[in-house]
Amino acid sequence: MSHTRSNEAMVVQLNHFVDEQTGAVVPPIHPATTYARDENYELIGGIRYGRYGNPAWTQVEEMVAKLDSGREAKVFGSGLAATTAILETIKAGQHVLAPQVMYHGAQKWMRRIAERRGIELSFFDQADPGALRRAIQKNTALLWIESPVNPTWDVIDISDAAEAVHEVGGILCVDASVCSPVTTRPLEFGADLVFHSGSKYLNGHGDVLAGVVVTRDLNERWDEIGAIRNLSGGVLGSFETWLLMRGMRTLYLRFERQSQNALAFAKHFEAHPLVEKVLYPGLESHPGYQLAKRQMNKGFGGMLSILVKGDAHKAQRVCCALKLILIGASLGGVESLVEHRASVEGPDSVVPKNLIRFSIGIEPIDELIADLEQALSVL
Ligand SMILES: *Cc1c(COP(=O)(O)O)cnc(C)c1O
Repeated sequence: MSHTRSNEAMVVQLNHFVDEQTGAVVPPIHPATTYARDENYELIGGIRYGRYGNPAWTQVEEMVAKLDSGREAKVFGSGLAATTAILETIKAGQHVLAPQVMYHGAQKWMRRIAERRGIELSFFDQADPGALRRAIQKNTALLWIESPVNPTWDVIDISDAAEAVHEVGGILCVDASVCSPVTTRPLEFGADLVFHSGSKYLNGHGDVLAGVVVTRDLNERWDEIGAIRNLSGGVLGSFETWLLMRGMRTLYLRFERQSQNALAFAKHFEAHPLVEKVLYPGLESHPGYQLAKRQMNKGFGGMLSILVKGDAHKAQRVCCALKLILIGASLGGVESLVEHRASVEGPDSVVPKNLIRFSIGIEPIDELIADLEQALSVL
């Protein structure tokens, strides 16, 4: 008898894992770097060396591929190791297009790679719905987007982006680190690749650095991405793989609570006299709200930004006055974090100076609201 299993049940039960030999319902950690061959010189388990594979990689990869409605996935030693592998497939003379506002570290890295390897790179204004199409070129090989973009949370139309880049024969890769497959599956909107920093929502506990790429099709580019991972060595350790998998069990529960908390937090501070603006795609006042509703079918996530009335100094003072919410980088974890992005990104940052970014966690919402209330009162 067959019955449908939801993705939610699938991740809770670790892809319905039961160890054949022992009956254990949690997979073991495989620290081995080397794998033996049998009397016919055949690899016993198909893996020869730890840079080429690990049984736990396969388990996580199957889970993420299912979550994202993809054919296959690959895990990497960090999000940026995965980004590097994708960019490595781009040839000199080809064009890469990305949003002006996006994950700062990835943009910095793209600029360096483009310069060294003779790749054309340009950025479009993600807040202008027509700008993406105008910026596509005949030689655009890779369109890289995030939606919503970090940290202004502008929403980009994924279907439109896919259509635009496919017209010139390029591919669309969506960085979905802030927008887990619980709510958006970019491959279903026509994207070719999905990228996750597994360090964020997938793991959700701030104790693992990992990256995952998911593909819609099995093709030469996908083989190349796998070869680059195995040869450049940006691989995920066995314990980290296990932790990532363990974190993913509660992905749905966490994301649902984070989305509820963030929406309540955003609504509460929208009308606050010391707040200029709340940026959250789940607010009706947000310019991307209608599009976000179409692309995010199970919550708007835990990420939002608040523009405080005042300058950079005032924004930092609010951060420092918080007593429960920690000041820290990263996002998507169970604990709430705040960050003044302009000072983290440095002088080339285009982020408003009075913007503070929140990664809302799963703490009781009353306590989170009370914390920012008291912090704003120091202004
Ligand atoms: C954190 C992050 C990355 C980079 O991932 P790492 O795991 O830190 O290397 C890329 N994109 C976004 C949106 C992120 O939040």
